[in-house]
Amino acid sequence: MSGLAIERHPSPNFDNRACAISHIILHYTDMADCDAALARLCDAAAKVSAHYLIRRDGHIFQLVDEAARAWHAGVSYWQGETDMNSASIGIELDHDGHKDGAMAAFPEAQMAALISLLQDIVKRHDILPQNILGHSDVAPGRKIDPGEAFDWAALHRAGFGLWVDNVKTEDVPPLATGSEDKAVAPLQKALAAIGYQITADGVFGPQTQAVISAFQRHFRPAKIDGAADAETQTLVYAVCRLALSP
Ligand SMILES: [Zn+2]
Repeated sequence: MSGLAIERHPSPNFDNRACAISHIILHYTDMADCDAALARLCDAAAKVSAHYLIRRDGHIFQLVDEAARAWHAGVSYWQGETDMNSASIGIELDHDGHKDGAMAAFPEAQMAALISLLQDIVKRHDILPQNILGHSDVAPGRKIDPGEAFDWAALHRAGFGLWVDNVKTEDVPPLATGSEDKAVAPLQKALAAIGYQITADGVFGPQTQAVISAFQRHFRPAKIDGAADAETQTLVYAVCRLALSP
C-alpha cells in the first residue's frame, strides 16, 4: 500500500463508519509515554482509539483500519457534520500535553513521520488541505489538543492544513465577551464559514469565546485569550477567504 513502516497494534475500539472519509483530525495523547497511550487506546473499557499513533521518535502504530470508525473525536462538529469520527481519520501524537499550562514542542522525528503519513493518507483519500484539523477545532471549549505548540505553519509548508501569515492587521476595535457590537455577527459568520460550530447571533457569549480560543490555538498561538483583538479578527477573515477559495 505504501512504503511507510507501520506497526500494527490492533485496538478493539471501533465500529462502522456512517459516511465517507473527508477529514483528518490530529490529537495529542496527554500521557507520560507511548506505552501508556497504546495501552489506553487498546483498552476495551476505555472506549477510545485512533487510527494511528505516532511515537516521539517517529515510529508509527496503526490501531484501527482506516475503513472502520475509530473513537477519537467524541462530541464534535465541523461544517455541519456532527459525527466527525465517521468523517475522519484520527492521528494521535505521543505527547505529555499541557503541564502547568505550558507544553513542549513536538520532536522533529515525530513531525517528519506525521508528514509522511499525511502524504500517504491524503493521496489515497483525496483529502483537501483545509480538512486537516485539530481536535480543538472540532470540539471548542472541550478539547485543547494538539495544542498551541503544534507547528501548523510547518505542516502548511509541507502542503497540509491552512495557515496565514504576513497579513497586515486591520485597524478595527477589539471585541470581547459581552460585546453586541455590529462587528460581532460578521465575525461569527466567518468562523462558521471556516467550519466552527458557532451561531451568528451578534452576541459575543461563551460559545464565541470558546471558538475564538480554538481559532487562536490553531492560527494565532502567541495569545489565546478568547477575545477578538484586531489581529485575531484580521486572521479570521484571512483564514475564511483561504478556506472558501477554490
Ligand atoms: Zn484529542
